[in-house]
Amino acid sequence: MLTASSALLLIALGSYAALCAIQPFGTCHKCRGVGYRLRRTRTGAVKRGKPCRRCRTHGKRLRLGRRLHNHARRVHSAGTRTHTRSTNRKEALPWQ
Ligand SMILES: [Zn+2]
Repeated sequence: MLTASSALLLIALGSYAALCAIQPFGTCHKCRGVGYRLRRTRTGAVKRGKPCRRCRTHGKRLRLGRRLHNHARRVHSAGTRTHTRSTNRKEALPWQ
């Protein structure tokens, strides 16, 4: 039997997983999506500063859930045998 709090937790996890599947990149928190640090000149005008080291001037970052998913997929593919279906299919065609 699910309590209300565990049902809410499951809904939150499911919605976050859907968000990571649909939109894997989020806005960089350090530069707020600009890609550069913004600085003000003496007159008060905003100028572009140093490039953001966290996102490397893209302004986007890979979400934590997507990063975990990619790591799990990489571990799974490294631990399973490779499929040679494409090479076998070319040899198994009867009309060639
Ligand atoms: Zn950034």
